[in-house]
Amino acid sequence: MFLRELISNAADACEKLRYEGIASPALLGEDPLPRITVTLDRDTRTLTIEDNGIGMNAHDLAEALGTIARSGTKSFMERIAAGGGTEGTQLIGQFGVGFYSAFMVAEKVDVISHKAGEDEAAIWSSDGLGSYTIAPVDLHDAPARGTRVVLHLMEDATDYAERSRIEQTIKSQSGHVPVPIFLRETPDAEPVEIADGAALWTKPRAAVSEADYADFYRSVSGQFDEPALTLHYRAEGRHEYSVLAFVPSTKPFDLFDPDRAGRMKLYVNRVFITDEAELLPRYLRFVRGLVDSSDLPLNMSREMIQESPILAAIKKGVTGRVLSELDKRASDDNDGYLQIWETFGAVLKEGLYEDYERRETLLGLARFKTTASDGGWRSLADVEATFKENQTAIYYATGNDLDRLATSPQLEGFRARGVEVLLLADQVDSFWVTAGLDYKGKPFKSVTQGTADLDLIPLPEGKTGPTADASAEVTDFLAFVKTTLADAVSDVRASGRLTDSAVCLVASETGMDRQLERLLAASGRAPAAAKPVLEINPRHDLIVRLAGLAEEDEALREDAARLLFDEAQIADGEQPIDPRGFSARLARVITRALPSSAS
Ligand code: ADP
Repeated sequence: MFLRELISNAADACEKLRYEGIASPALLGEDPLPRITVTLDRDTRTLTIEDNGIGMNAHDLAEALGTIARSGTKSFMERIAAGGGTEGTQLIGQFGVGFYSAFMVAEKVDVISHKAGEDEAAIWSSDGLGSYTIAPVDLHDAPARGTRVVLHLMEDATDYAERSRIEQTIKSQSGHVPVPIFLRETPDAEPVEIADGAALWTKPRAAVSEADYADFYRSVSGQFDEPALTLHYRAEGRHEYSVLAFVPSTKPFDLFDPDRAGRMKLYVNRVFITDEAELLPRYLRFVRGLVDSSDLPLNMSREMIQESPILAAIKKGVTGRVLSELDKRASDDNDGYLQIWETFGAVLKEGLYEDYERRETLLGLARFKTTASDGGWRSLADVEATFKENQTAIYYATGNDLDRLATSPQLEGFRARGVEVLLLADQVDSFWVTAGLDYKGKPFKSVTQGTADLDLIPLPEGKTGPTADASAEVTDFLAFVKTTLADAVSDVRASGRLTDSAVCLVASETGMDRQLERLLAASGRAPAAAKPVLEINPRHDLIVRLAGLAEEDEALREDAARLLFDEAQIADGEQPIDPRGFSARLARVITRALPSSAS
């Protein structure tokens, strides 16, 4: 595992040099062909990985390897040791401490490096326990160019100096890095080529096995899982390029880091150029792999490449292809697709408001939990198929928590009519629903927004449902509640959406969706939250009886009015605005209900 990391670093160093060598051929000197050599030495119990790549000077060594030998690494290594096999492996891959994995088998690591074009060399040494040294080293003791990493193996890691073990590991894990790898069984033996460095993506699909793809995926992504989807094709026509891209099967740990950029590598005619070019939109940032173009000029600066219309055309092509492959997977292998959606759906949904042009495709790919999905996923086409007579919108409820959403009082009227409602619990949902999208002409509408135009949708035969019709007594009571809560709500009205619950809060017709309002308020971006509307179920027993209370019971009526509001807040997943007042009211009301004490 550590070997794969070190070989991948060595290959990167060779690729960097290959790129620099285009502008400055002198850097390549008399040794233009990239090469990685692994040398075993059982006598000194060392394993050496050497490359003739770009190399590092003393300053680079401190920058690149200094930080990792400092604080935190020890505890990190302890976690790895404690976590054992897979967990440790995953941690290393996820946190990008590739080089540091050497300390899993080495008690000491020396890095001797000679930077291309410079006439000094340096050695970095560390025992991995927190400190390191950097010193100049004689040019004779350093590689002619590039980096030599010497692992002084721990006593119980001597296996790693065995040829068969190392050869097999390299072939299976690093057989497809684009730089040839040689193995020397002893320091004096002739190097034997064990991997040819041919670029996997230039081979025809038929010549590549699933296992080859998976190995390559792991080396290009730094992850340890299997790819969930592999995309390998050559685009021809106006622009020619090869694509080898993968959708991982697990979430990278930094998926939601706002700075997380895509991880696609750009090659030009097999020369690695950059992994910072924007080859895919942000909402596809989980896709790993590479694009190799034959059209971009090699001698263009990285900045100019970034601006190039050719790059823009490639991005467009690759994006369309990734989405159409996802779509294909959805129709060929629904379960497989749902796993991808489960893992990356929340990211893909960002595209709904970031990529207006592709919104239809993305809406087609989207899957939702709904009031009818029974924990599974539903497509919008599924939902549309359940549309009821006079239903004109796709209804949704947003919140933080699926379980709470599913039991939200706001859904009762929809349930009574058999109207399927999307349950949206990802942060991103509050944003895309406001983007004014529609699905086949059907707008999206929040169940908490405004008076639900539910009354138009007929109830199933023989069923009575909620209605906003209120008796005169109840109407009077609502007016009283409204006066009492004037400072907290913008309106109090009879609700047509409640069946079992007595109350719920909704946003005013023109107001922002309540969940979006909460998110914005949490990030300090919202103006003072608009006051919600309190809706009351006029036929609920509690309400009917409260409305029947005699006028003299003013104090109880007032407590009840405020408790109704508290209850609605709680059902919405919030705290009562005034918890002390809430407790006092509750205590008064319960006390009243208790039989008076015997005294
Ligand atoms: P990563 O490869 O994810 O950046 P590493 O810990 O593996 O993290 O390596 C840290 C840095 O050390 C690399 O980014 C690179 O700059 C430098 N480095 C490591 N190995 C080599 C090498 N063989 N040649 C040149 N630079 C190297």
